[in-house]
Amino acid sequence: MNKQKKETIEKLLNKIKEYHPKADLDMIQLAYDFAASAHEGQKRRTGEPYITHPLAAAHILADTQIDPVIIIATLLHDVPEDTSVTLEDIKKNFGSEVESLVRGITKLGKLKYRGVERYIENLRKMFIAMAEDVRVMIIKFADRIHNLRTLDAMPPQKKYRIALESLEIYASIANRLGMEEIKGELEDLSFKYVYPKDYERVKKIRDEKIIGKKQYLKNVIEKTEKAFQEAHVKIISIQGRNKRLYSLYKKLLKKENSVAKIYDLVAIRIIVPTIADCYATLGILHHTFKPLKGRIKDYISQPKPNGYKSLHTTVFGESGENVEFQIRTSEMHQDAEYGVAAHWHYNEYGSRSQKKDIEWIKELANIQKDMLDKLTDLEQMKIDFLQTRIFVFTPKGDVIDLPEAATPVDFAYHIHTEVGNKCNGALINDTMVSLDTELKNGDVVEIILDKNRKGPNPDWLNFVKTATAKNHIRTNQKNKLTNWIKSMLPNK
Ligand code: MN
Repeated sequence: MNKQKKETIEKLLNKIKEYHPKADLDMIQLAYDFAASAHEGQKRRTGEPYITHPLAAAHILADTQIDPVIIIATLLHDVPEDTSVTLEDIKKNFGSEVESLVRGITKLGKLKYRGVERYIENLRKMFIAMAEDVRVMIIKFADRIHNLRTLDAMPPQKKYRIALESLEIYASIANRLGMEEIKGELEDLSFKYVYPKDYERVKKIRDEKIIGKKQYLKNVIEKTEKAFQEAHVKIISIQGRNKRLYSLYKKLLKKENSVAKIYDLVAIRIIVPTIADCYATLGILHHTFKPLKGRIKDYISQPKPNGYKSLHTTVFGESGENVEFQIRTSEMHQDAEYGVAAHWHYNEYGSRSQKKDIEWIKELANIQKDMLDKLTDLEQMKIDFLQTRIFVFTPKGDVIDLPEAATPVDFAYHIHTEVGNKCNGALINDTMVSLDTELKNGDVVEIILDKNRKGPNPDWLNFVKTATAKNHIRTNQKNKLTNWIKSMLPNK
């Protein structure tokens, strides 16, 4: 995504006209002018005029080919909260549907962190608003994505909190709503701020792997296209797609950091006209390439819980390297990319797509329960979000931001997973200390490494404070346990 690119209202109107020729463009222009004059003189932290924010959010949603009514509400979403213009004025100018959407967003309010109780209350408000009209949540996602893209302008503590909240709450909800694109954006944008070191590491792994695979993929795609021509099966599109960074990171954690065990680093996505074509495609692929055992997944006959449908298969390409294929129809593709938002999609003829039963309405109650459960036992979240942060230094003078009462082990994992795993001692301000010592603002911390150390001590879980440290220690324990169990099994 190119954030430097200048988004204009003209580009927005053109984009909408393309997927919805009958859209009332005058109304959208009017909403833009209305918002621009209401926000006149206001600036964002980035120094840009405020209107650039609602405009960018509207662009994000127009890219998903969404109903123009939602675009209008998005353009107006910050007006009642930040200006003297009222919801009543919006109703008079744009009607009650738009007003109700903007009211939903306004009720959610701006990001405020004033203690745990208030925070949970805000989240509850979000779920209620979502249950009343899920479109409010869709607008909120676009709002958040743009805020994340411009997060660098925020002070460090806020950056971290906003990113963590986006990762833990917003991305989870987007996932449950089946909004793959939006979820992926939210995750990758937040990842950089929540786990900066891991972000850089994973990005490097992915980029290196992908550069190496370019020519290989081109060959596989060409061979596939030829096989389809011979079989006289029509393909709507075929293209390679890189795995998103955060999802690669999570997979690496699961697979003991072994890139070799990740089969969908780059996947080839094939879109075909009908469900029958999907299965025919699978047959052609398996005839052309040797399939990897146990890697064929039929999410068409058994969709994932969030409704995801596709066929997946991993095959051996020429050089014996693996590649995953994802096969689906256009409709499945739209549903997979946009999820719930696909209900407000316009097709090429400009008519709203009529989706069958509205399963997701039932889903909402579950999502809410899930999230609140997660929250009530989410002591961790409170610590990461709401506790006062301290700033400590590396011996080289880099600033590290940690929650209060964090220990050298938290510090070590913040630097890098391996620094945590190999941590054997610590110096605070040149004095040797025990690993459970609480760090204070301004401390200079140096970690003593033992290269031969097998991994973290499970007892560290008794004193570490950050989720990063806890996750890494637990993952390590789990891996050890799995390896131990494996070693106890009789040899095949
Ligand atoms: Mn906003």
